[in-house]
Amino acid sequence: MNQESKNYQPKKQLKQTETRICQNCGKEFTIEPEDFEFYEKIGVPAPTFCPDCRLQRRMMWRNERKLYKRKCDLCGKDIISIYPPDAPFPVYCSKCWNSDKWDPMDYGREYDWDKPFFEQIEKLYKKVPHLSLMELNNTNCPFVNYAWFSNNSYMCFDLGYGEDMMYSKACHFVKDSIDCSYAKKIELCYECVEVEKSNHSSFLKNCENCLDSHFLTNCKNCSSCILCEN
Ligand SMILES: [Zn+2]
Ligand SMILES: [Zn+2]
Repeated sequence: MNQESKNYQPKKQLKQTETRICQNCGKEFTIEPEDFEFYEKIGVPAPTFCPDCRLQRRMMWRNERKLYKRKCDLCGKDIISIYPPDAPFPVYCSKCWNSDKWDPMDYGREYDWDKPFFEQIEKLYKKVPHLSLMELNNTNCPFVNYAWFSNNSYMCFDLGYGEDMMYSKACHFVKDSIDCSYAKKIELCYECVEVEKSNHSSFLKNCENCLDSHFLTNCKNCSSCILCEN
């Protein structure tokens, strides 16, 4: 073998598009050459689940809107929770969970190097009490989740510093509004989406600094406007 052939290195071949069967739902899915390159780059094997099943698997860790009636496993009171009554772990209401009536340190345990990690984390997960709703310092807001420093609000998810809000999602520093989403600093609004610093308006989309306006899209600094679009 001469020197040249000895040093010969085959040119790196780009992988072909591959069709695979999802191990979970049995449907076909494709993996593109760029995907293979990316998996190689971050050092993980190619997936065996289709994109939809992968998304479901990621999202099962965040229950944002499905609420259940159940009892707090510490004080026994009726509560609303993101965990069903038959959840395999104890669920505490916010008051109990934040109290000194239990000590999280009691659940510490030694790691056993002879047993699989996931087996041990599952056991721990089923023992440690879970917080009934993701909420902090709310008053009179039993049906909210991912909410903090809010008052008198109902059926809101991802609500921060909200007051008298209903049926809204991802609204922060908001007041007296219904059916809004992705809104910030709005007041007396209805059906506003991606709206900021607006007041007394309805059906606004992607607007800012609007007042007494209705049915606007992509508008800024409007006052008493109706049916405008940019
Ligand atoms: Zn699948
Ligand atoms: Zn409780």
